[in-house]
Amino acid sequence: MPIDLSSEAQRKRANDYWGGLAGKVERFLSRTKIIDGECWEWLGAYSGNGPYGVCRDLSGKSTSAHRVAFQLFKGNLLEGSQIMHSCDNPRCVNPAHLSQGTAQDNADDKVSKGRQSKSNTLPDQRGEGNLNSKTCVDTVLEIRKLYAEGVSQKEIASMTGVQRANVWAIVHRKSWRHI
Ligand SMILES: [Zn+2]
Repeated sequence: MPIDLSSEAQRKRANDYWGGLAGKVERFLSRTKIIDGECWEWLGAYSGNGPYGVCRDLSGKSTSAHRVAFQLFKGNLLEGSQIMHSCDNPRCVNPAHLSQGTAQDNADDKVSKGRQSKSNTLPDQRGEGNLNSKTCVDTVLEIRKLYAEGVSQKEIASMTGVQRANVWAIVHRKSWRHI
């Protein structure tokens, strides 16, 4: 993850804000509320003139809350990428509803809304050759990490948007055995 460590002040600010990096996920989740059993509505600050929540990212920079959600739960943000909502709810920070794309993807997505699937399963068990495989690998690693930390498979499923059967297969190394 490209955390900018060049500025000590910036690093300290992020650390203070998140209460130490170890607590960042809990800190983030405490600022969300589950709406209709699906979307996680952001309860923190909102940008002055936009519909999106704002939050500090892992480098301490203020950015949109859903970008931070993606970074926390799903992995690297690519340069110049946009984080898109499958639910069309700009207040939502549920990582299961977020996907990463280019600015062009985002424009296409707005045009084709209605055809897009809401599901966010890992596309295949190997991930090789898949455009999202970097994201998938990060998700798999995160799932195993959470499970090792004692988070239940049910909670992991709702945090990551990965189906419970897949979570089970991942933590028991029935799938994604190569990583
Ligand atoms: Zn949503």
